[in-house]
Amino acid sequence: MRLSRYFLPLLRETPKEAEIVSHRLMLRAGMIRQEAAGIYAWLPLGVRVLAKINAVVREEQNRAGAIELLMPTIQPAELWRESGRYEDYGKEMLRIKDRHDRDVLYGPTNEEMVTEIFRAYVRSYKDLPLTLYHIQWKFRDEVRPRFGVMRSREFLMKDAYSFDLDLVGARHSYNKMFVAYLRTFARFGLTAIPMVADTGPIGGNLSHEFIILASTGESEVYCHKDYLGFATPAADVDFDDVKSIQAIVDKWTSLYAATSEKHDAAAFAALPAGAGVTARGIEIGHIFYFGTKYSAPMKAVVVGPDGKETAVHGGSYGIGPSRLAAALIEANHDEAGIVWPEAAAPFKVGLVNVKVGDSATETACADLYTRLTKAGVDVLYDDRDERPGAKFATLDLIGLPYQLIVGPKGLAEGKVELKARRSGDRELLSPDDAAARLAT
Ligand code: ATP
Ligand code: MG
Repeated sequence: MRLSRYFLPLLRETPKEAEIVSHRLMLRAGMIRQEAAGIYAWLPLGVRVLAKINAVVREEQNRAGAIELLMPTIQPAELWRESGRYEDYGKEMLRIKDRHDRDVLYGPTNEEMVTEIFRAYVRSYKDLPLTLYHIQWKFRDEVRPRFGVMRSREFLMKDAYSFDLDLVGARHSYNKMFVAYLRTFARFGLTAIPMVADTGPIGGNLSHEFIILASTGESEVYCHKDYLGFATPAADVDFDDVKSIQAIVDKWTSLYAATSEKHDAAAFAALPAGAGVTARGIEIGHIFYFGTKYSAPMKAVVVGPDGKETAVHGGSYGIGPSRLAAALIEANHDEAGIVWPEAAAPFKVGLVNVKVGDSATETACADLYTRLTKAGVDVLYDDRDERPGAKFATLDLIGLPYQLIVGPKGLAEGKVELKARRSGDRELLSPDDAAARLAT
């Protein structure tokens, strides 16, 4: 993409309404724009980040055996009356009437609808286990939308739903998502700690919130410091191997970790000196086993091996890609702006022509731009007639992992400069070597 032809509406001023750094930087970098309280338009740079995040989320869901579908945002109230949640959900649900005066709603989540799809087609235990997911916009009329897309009213969610014959099967489905979540967040360089969460009337211990530590987080959290050094499950982990998946979950639940709602002060105080971490945290994912909560009232049953009909055991598993975009900025920024991890970066490299109008730099830039683009590298080419300082400030602000700087002095010696945004390290390389390096 040539910056001269792109739409990148940067803000010079720091917006007053933004209380946390990710919100400020997303506005300044032209990623999002507020259209109403808690409702945002995603501008081109923001959309690229969401797409990158979704791609990783999708890959890890697929790896764990989940199958993608796409359910609508608008749902009939009828389904929610079946489960009893239409009345229970309260004011967070946006209720709408259509032209025929029928009650519909903008989905805050999809348990009812996916259960309806399941029961329409699945009859036998032989078709289980089944985990379906989609990545779709949700609406929750939050009392206090704030912090930009961190807590918005309309937000993107990847929500997966598992169906199993019994608790034993459901536990494995739950564990697979648990491991998939660890991998997903690690690919963005995040250590998300699974913390025991409330299971409400369901009981049991099968609910975890995945939390990253950040000073601006809304939750107060307590955990053992060793979690921060745990190794990520490998990409080739066998998701059908019940025991080894369980072993990973056991390890990641072996130490103390809880949000304030489930905090046990005595257990926390009993940790060895210096092992307990008290911090603020951001919830970026949540997994939950709910048994037959929806399948029983909605009659989602299968014929089991004994020939009898039985209500299936379910779980739901959410990640908020739009919140994750903000959380990544909370975890990755400096005074100059955002520092994207490569997996979420809107472009991998910003190509800077230091002297627009100079035929040598123009030719070298055009050549690098073509070669990199052909090699599948996302390049933002700053071809505008601007001061180099302004160009560098823009690239620092929007946080691309690399800057490839082409100036007349370097070129005279056959060199261009490659700067890594995170470390600030600079290297002089031939254009060939720079292109080769970036293409890997
Ligand atoms: P919270 O406790 O932060 O209100 P929740 O427990 O209501 O979230 P879940 O129903 O568990 O949220 O939703 C799954 C995921 O969706 C969350 O882990 C989060 O990443 C994302 N999410 C939920 N609510 C919002 C929101 N208002 N804005 C942005 N993302 C959200
Ligand atoms: Mg939650």
